[in-house]
Amino acid sequence: MASLRKCNLFINGKVVKPTGGNYFVRENPATENDFAQIAESSKKDVDKAVSAAKKSFTTWSKVTPSDRAKVLLKIAAVLGKNQKSLAHLNTLETGKPVRESGLVEIGGSIKTLEHYAGAHTQLNGETIPVNENQISMTLKEPVGVVAQIIPWNFPLLLSFWKIAPALVAGCTIVLKPAELTSCTIFEIARLCSKAGLPEGVLNIVPGKGEITGQALVEHPGIDKVAFTGSTSVGKHVMKTASDSVKRVSLELGGKAPCIIFDDANLENAVEACLRGGFFNQGENCTAVTKLMLHKKIYKKFLDMYVKKVKRINIGDPTKPGTEMGAVISKDHYDSVLNYIAKGKSEGAKVVSGGSRPSKLKKGYFINPTVLENVDPNATVACDEIFGPVVAVIPFSTEEEAISIANNTDYGLAGGLWTNDINRAMRVAKSINAGYLWVNTYGGIIPQTPYGGFKQSGIGKELGREGIENYLETKCVNIYTGDSMPKWYKG
Ligand code: NAD
Repeated sequence: MASLRKCNLFINGKVVKPTGGNYFVRENPATENDFAQIAESSKKDVDKAVSAAKKSFTTWSKVTPSDRAKVLLKIAAVLGKNQKSLAHLNTLETGKPVRESGLVEIGGSIKTLEHYAGAHTQLNGETIPVNENQISMTLKEPVGVVAQIIPWNFPLLLSFWKIAPALVAGCTIVLKPAELTSCTIFEIARLCSKAGLPEGVLNIVPGKGEITGQALVEHPGIDKVAFTGSTSVGKHVMKTASDSVKRVSLELGGKAPCIIFDDANLENAVEACLRGGFFNQGENCTAVTKLMLHKKIYKKFLDMYVKKVKRINIGDPTKPGTEMGAVISKDHYDSVLNYIAKGKSEGAKVVSGGSRPSKLKKGYFINPTVLENVDPNATVACDEIFGPVVAVIPFSTEEEAISIANNTDYGLAGGLWTNDINRAMRVAKSINAGYLWVNTYGGIIPQTPYGGFKQSGIGKELGREGIENYLETKCVNIYTGDSMPKWYKG
């Protein structure tokens, strides 16, 4: 135990041990070796973190937006300077290829910080002409102390999607990372503090969801909860937050369809759907998991696709040339393999993958898996598997494709491929999801609003709308007439 890395709490600019003295052990999913001890923050620790955030809110909210933006740029510079070591650490705890840790987790976080640094010019309200004797105006005010709860699949990128707009808006933060991925964000908080982020503005409380997360959502000092995670926990968070009518935004699960029409550029579609399905081991809420192929191109597309799937280089994620790493944990590995078994028992045929790679003896590796003959109502076509498993479903008409795409309670993302612009617009409007790609797939950029329909969430992150999560609109009405009209006679 003594040699394991320690992930503590970060409160008020200082590294703090958990009050109960409890830690749990996290293993490296690619080696199965114990890797770190993660602090279990208690209710008392959450109290301390919220008090620190509350105290710092009084000063941080008054810092000018342009000065807050400068701090965001300093954090971006710190991430850039430490990109290599942070990417390595992120790979040790997530199992994802170091290429993805560097380019997507750290690189994407830097882009998000830079984008929101620019957004300090968007904190303006408006003036509203009412009548000749009154001027009304809106003021945009920071919502207060925010709780940010993060899942394990993109522990850094998803943190910065929340941290960057909250900071520029003038909010202060208590962030709870996922149990499985707390180490890198804890290191980043320490670096941010050294780079000039004032104490108490960003506090980190690692720990268990049902203890630390629950205490945070219940806490009376929290003004807003920004949650990313599963739909089931999101529903619970929403119920808990309703007790004190906290503001809530939810980014939840998904089951993304990607429809390939018979006039699509197949080479491009194959390339993008490979990335769409297997990037981040398929542990991606927008992953292409229902690959829907028009019957006319079904065989041709599938042959081209499967040939490339089999060439994906899976292995040690710390090596720069590795293209796919290990899934996050033993439990998740078992769950994904159970889904593959369930798919087979419901009639699907495994055309690639389906099991662990025989060359890798340790670690939670699963070969990229393609299932065909999948019924649109089969479990693998409906449940969020959140692993490297793509279900291939044929269709004949546009109407049928739309109906299969919408056959889900989720509505996060989706894609379609066609060279017919009218069809592209028609289908894009008919798919019930919040984020769509046409003739490309994947990549969520900070300039664009992202968020789910239906049970995939409430609210948007990123883009212009992302900053609204952290602002309250106050309306101020000023009377400018010389005399007050009389309502009573006396
Ligand atoms: P999860 O819901 O199990 O956990 C998410 C976070 O919630 C963790 O930090 C966890 O500790 C915390 N938590 C658990 N119980 C809690 C409680 N009672 N109160 C407060 N917090 C609690 O999700 P996960 O397994 O970490 O992540 C995978 C899920 O996240 C998938 O469903 C995926 O689709 C979703 N996700 C969605 C998006 C999006 O942008 N929509 C992005 C990434 C992941």
